Order: sequence, then structure tokens, then C-alpha cells
Amino acid sequence: MSKLLVVGTVAFDAIETPFGKTDKILGGAATYISLSAAQFGVKPGIVSVVGGDFPKEYLKKLNEKNINTEGIEIVEDGKTFFWKGKYHNDLNTRDTLITDLNVLADFNPVVPKEFMDAEFLMLGNLHPAVQMSVINQLAKRPKLIVLDTMNFWMDNALDLLMEVIAKIDVITINDEEARQLSGEYSLVKAAHKIHKMGPKYVVIKKGEHGALLFNNGNVFFAPALPLEEVFDPTGAGDTFAGGFIGHMARTGDISFENMKRAVICGSNLASFSVEKFGTERMESLTNDEIQKRLLQFKLLTQFEIELN
Ligand code: AMP
Repeated sequence: MSKLLVVGTVAFDAIETPFGKTDKILGGAATYISLSAAQFGVKPGIVSVVGGDFPKEYLKKLNEKNINTEGIEIVEDGKTFFWKGKYHNDLNTRDTLITDLNVLADFNPVVPKEFMDAEFLMLGNLHPAVQMSVINQLAKRPKLIVLDTMNFWMDNALDLLMEVIAKIDVITINDEEARQLSGEYSLVKAAHKIHKMGPKYVVIKKGEHGALLFNNGNVFFAPALPLEEVFDPTGAGDTFAGGFIGHMARTGDISFENMKRAVICGSNLASFSVEKFGTERMESLTNDEIQKRLLQFKLLTQFEIELN
């Protein structure tokens, strides 16, 4: 079991889908990533920031899942990062209605002593300056650095983001973001261009259409499980990333072959996350359920064919 450090937002989310809407609930990239990675028995530590308005019971919830929250700074007189989004009927696309950075706007992260020697670093979605600061603080370069980001940071802090991208091993982004970052419509061409920016491995998430893993000429495809009902896709990308890094940190094996399994683990965890609003499903998820669904994934893609 390797030490895993997760950076990302810990947030309030307000979500609207065709099935209903929520007021401010627990959300954030680091929240989803950690809840997902913790399912692999690793005990992730989070580096993030919240305001005095953030309920202590949310932190307790994370601690109960074996997530270390020592690196979450609480700014007593500040407000927690707030995101509001509304999904379209197809649930694959959404509009961001509000992004209030609040305490994230001038956050100086401090990596807890215990995580200075983290072997796996998951740079979840937040300001690239924070991601860079965490890379620079670590005593030695982790075995694997994975980065997840989104169009908001491409629009608002592209130069800094490119500097971070040059330092990492794996990037996970969705198809539209890969197109925006590379200027290429074809995802194969986009992955090729992104490789040139730094990362040896490029994971492109395609929502309900699965995910692609590229490594200089090699491609692997992981489907998403066809689900009867999807309630809320919020956090699916982060949960995917958490499943990916959780598997990598549990096994400690950073080969391409093992990354294929990690991509399947990510898809598997994400398939649960979307079944209920917010983090609810991830909070109740059991290992037994995960294993059963892993078998479904196997059956979904396994076939024999004779070549002549
Ligand atoms: P996903 O659906 O995987 O893209 O992630 C949604 C989560 O990302 C929500 O819980 C939000 O709180 C968080 N989020 C939304 N916008 C941002 C942003 N610009 N930076 C960091 N986290 C964000």
C-alpha cells in the first residue's frame, strides 16, 4: 500500500438535473476523488481549503471513510468554494451557473508532514498554482503524478496550467477539454498533441461512452457500464480519477498493463457515483458491490473470436 496525497476542491455544490435539484451539499473534486480512492484501502490525505461555513460533520464523514483531512485548512472568516451546475436532458452536458472561488482565491497550500513522502500524487481540479505548489513542496518526486483539470482553468490560468502539465505523468480530462487543450477535434490527434506537452499517459473521459487510455501509440478503451438510471453525473470524472489512482496506489505498479486495470476500476467506481445525488452513493458503497460490478465489466467486454 503506497501513500496517496490528493489535492482538489472541497466544496459546496448546488446541482440541478432533470430528476431534481439540491441546495448546497457536500461536493468538490478532492471529496469525490478521496471517497473513491479510499475504497481501495489506501488512506488518502487531502490538501484543500474550506471556510468557517463548512460543517464539521462533513469532515467527520470523510474521516470515517479513512480519509486524512489534516491538510484541509479552515479559514474561519471565509466562505467555502461554491459551484452550481445544471444538467441538460441527455445528462452528458451541463452548464456551470456559478463558480465562487471564495477561500480558494488566495489559498497557500501546506502539505502535512506525514504526506511529504507521498509516492502517489493526485492533482485534482483546482487552481494550477496550488497544484504546482504541492509538487514543489514534496520532499522527493512521487512515483506517479496524475492531474485532472477542466475548461475553467484553461480559460483562466492556461500558462500556469501548461507548466503543471509539463511536470506530470498522467492527465485525465474529458473529451471536450482535450479538444480545447489541443485544438484538435480527433481525440487520437488530441492525445498525440497532449503527449507532447509532457504527460506520457493521456486518459480521455467520454462520459457514458467510457474512457480512452493513450500511451505513445498504444490505446486502451474502458467502457462505461450501461446503467438503467443515472440521477446525477456530478463528480463522475473525479470518482473515475479516484478509482484510477486508488488502484495504482494499492498495487504500486505503474506499468501500462496495470493502468488498463486502473481505468476499469475508475469506470467501475464512477458507475456507482452517478446513481444518487452528490456523494450519497459513494458514502454507502461496499467492497462487495464493487467486486460484483467488476465482474459485470469483465463480461461486458470479454469475447472470443477466431482469426483466420
Ligand atoms: P466532475 O463532475 O467530475 O467534473 O466534478 C464536479 C465537481 O467539481 C463538483 O463537486 C465541483 O465542486 C467541482 N468543481 C466544479 N468547478 C470546479 C473548478 N473550476 N475547480 C475545481 N473544482 C471544481
